[in-house]
Amino acid sequence: MKLLVINAGSSSLKYQLYDMTDESVLAKGLVERIGMDSSILTHKPTGKEEVTEVSEILEHTTAIRKVLEKLTDKEHGVLESVEEIQAVGHRVVHGGEAFKGSALVTSEVKAEIRRLFDLAPLHNPPAILGINAAEKNMPGVPQVVAFDTAFHQTMEEKVYLYPIPKVLYKKHRVRRYGAHGTSHQYVSKVAADYLNRPIEDLKIITCHIGNGASMTAVQGGVSTDTSMGLTPLEGLMMGTRSGDLDPAVVTFVMNKEELSLSEANSMLNKHSGLLAISGSSSDMRDITDGMAEGDPNSTLAFEMYEYRLRKYIGSYAAAMNGVDVIVFTAGVGENSAIVREKVCENLTYLGVEIDPELNKVRSGDPRRISTPNSKVEVLVIPTNEELMIARDTYRIVQENQ
Ligand code: ADP
Repeated sequence: MKLLVINAGSSSLKYQLYDMTDESVLAKGLVERIGMDSSILTHKPTGKEEVTEVSEILEHTTAIRKVLEKLTDKEHGVLESVEEIQAVGHRVVHGGEAFKGSALVTSEVKAEIRRLFDLAPLHNPPAILGINAAEKNMPGVPQVVAFDTAFHQTMEEKVYLYPIPKVLYKKHRVRRYGAHGTSHQYVSKVAADYLNRPIEDLKIITCHIGNGASMTAVQGGVSTDTSMGLTPLEGLMMGTRSGDLDPAVVTFVMNKEELSLSEANSMLNKHSGLLAISGSSSDMRDITDGMAEGDPNSTLAFEMYEYRLRKYIGSYAAAMNGVDVIVFTAGVGENSAIVREKVCENLTYLGVEIDPELNKVRSGDPRRISTPNSKVEVLVIPTNEELMIARDTYRIVQENQ
């Protein structure tokens, strides 16, 4: 079965075409600047040359039509006809409490995703645009939605509730939902496979650290706690997000600086984190370069980032009464040897010991960076959210045939 995985944002749309007979990627690409007069489509067919096209793409239906044209193009295509695509999988950020796993798209499922617009105002609306656009372009082709929150629906009430008036949960569903669930689930499974141990027996801490960053305690294969909360703002320090802070900071600063709600939101989501402390960049590569050049602001940003990561690892080890495996993944986790080194340097109380040489190895495959003596396995596992969505889509479509 060939299937298309789509990740629709408000002005962008990423896609990957899979052949599920061997889970190979036939083509992938990205449409950027949807809604602007010079939209850019970058199409990368496997084994053929990459192609970039600039045109006016005003909405998602046109974006998908252009993608399908490229997939069936004589020169750059990988399909004879669009009919070869037998299913479509969509990434959806927020599944609220309704979705504990991926689901076949129906009108009720779409209505539920719409009801969740309030909880993910920037992310769920474009997902609906993507679903509708795929339906228009490929009528009758089954579609599946995979939610970033679904993996975390196994958290217990004592973990997901905030200690605030309970009426806020009853009325507005204010609670911890978490995010990056597809990635945490994928890397924890790959970790168990790599170690050749049943996931049911393992206590795993997965660190998904990219632009956005979150950590999950995976016990017995299910998420028991995760650092992102009602929104992706809570938890670790990130590229441009603050992560944890005293909630009173918000009201205090809003009052002193006369900020509106949206200004406060923007300060915490877009102008905080590494960017705010370094004063120069949200990108870990720039921060570590700055640190190597002796820039004190970059050094402080790095130290705060690493310190907060380490505190979270400690708290999840405490939450699970131990840890067998620590997994690093996503842009920073997969690529920054110095972040991994500094975090692990201060986890000796857990029996963590990493091999500096193994830590420096660069590879696209799962790998161990801990020593044979280490009491905790430390792994670097490249995440692959698209593959996870493709697998769920394949399974759900088969089940519903
Ligand atoms: P997103 O959250 O947007 O999916 P990614 O997981 O792709 O992000 O991570 C992007 C981040 O990864 C970049 O902002 C950068 O800080 C970091 N990164 C990428 N490559 C490296 C590298 N070689 N060394 C350190 N950090 C890196």
